Amino acid sequence: MKQVRIHGPDDVRLDEIPEPEPGPDDAILAVAACGICGSDVGYAKLGGVQGPAPEPVPLGHELAGTVVAVGDRVRGIEIGSRVALNPGAAGFGLGSGGPEGGFTPRLLVRGAGLGKSLFPIPDDMPFEIAALAEPLGVGMNAVDQVDVQPGEKVAVLGAGPIGLSAIATLHDRGVEDIVAIDLSETRLEIARKLGAKDTINPKNDDLWNDLGRLHGTEQLYWMDLVDTDVFIEATGSGALLKKAIERGGNGSRISVVALHRQEVPVDFMTVLMKQMRLQGAIEYPERFENMLELLARRDLGPMITHRFRLDEFSTAFEVAKSPDAGAKIMIEIG
Ligand SMILES: [Zn+2]
Repeated sequence: MKQVRIHGPDDVRLDEIPEPEPGPDDAILAVAACGICGSDVGYAKLGGVQGPAPEPVPLGHELAGTVVAVGDRVRGIEIGSRVALNPGAAGFGLGSGGPEGGFTPRLLVRGAGLGKSLFPIPDDMPFEIAALAEPLGVGMNAVDQVDVQPGEKVAVLGAGPIGLSAIATLHDRGVEDIVAIDLSETRLEIARKLGAKDTINPKNDDLWNDLGRLHGTEQLYWMDLVDTDVFIEATGSGALLKKAIERGGNGSRISVVALHRQEVPVDFMTVLMKQMRLQGAIEYPERFENMLELLARRDLGPMITHRFRLDEFSTAFEVAKSPDAGAKIMIEIG
């Protein structure tokens, strides 16, 4: 069967590998849909999770499918169940350096547990929507980490899948004043569909002028600030993060969910004077069901801008690498 694996920097292949055999504690999923993550693109560039690895690295961690086999000791998971996967709880770095990855027709889930690594999805929920649970969890956690309240003014920097997931979460929680910022008009249009009240494209407009116009401005000592309460940093741009620290409102919070692989200089005098909070955010809320419940309540379908079959993976991956990649690129399997 096929499996997408990284062999080195910029060397991603659709390999032929043996069918998996479940151990007594494992399950096998027939993967139906698996999304390409920004981190997949990053790993491919590096040639592995941290850099080139001795063994090929299987990719894919945003997925849903049907249980087709279970080991003798697995309890509560039925063959035929439609499920979404929590790749973190599945352990072994599934799709992130471990021996398994989701871009494959048959996925071995080691130590499978209902409500731990596998979560039943509603009968009428398409697999590609259920596969959004993982990236949605990343955006939701970025929001949770800074306790955003209705009435607060939020700027979401970057409207890729994680920024869009944060927007959908914010809107679902009754936060209305959401400004989405991105260089792609396609992404900004999706941001508006998912709940952003306003959008700014820094390609055409001055980001900080516009944000000040939308959220208001304030003066604190020597500093010209925008009245934004919360920033969700989902771009990975060090320059933009530095600017948000400089211009963010008095008492504002910044949730950093993007991968900053380079150091970002921080003026802690500014942080101190504004009593600003810098918050990191990784992975998901504790309850994986939170994401499936939101997906059942709200239509996140507009996030999926491209669909490819597994044998078209190299084309799909080229799209994912391009600067105006749309939003989520979904691989339909089986
Ligand atoms: Zn992901």
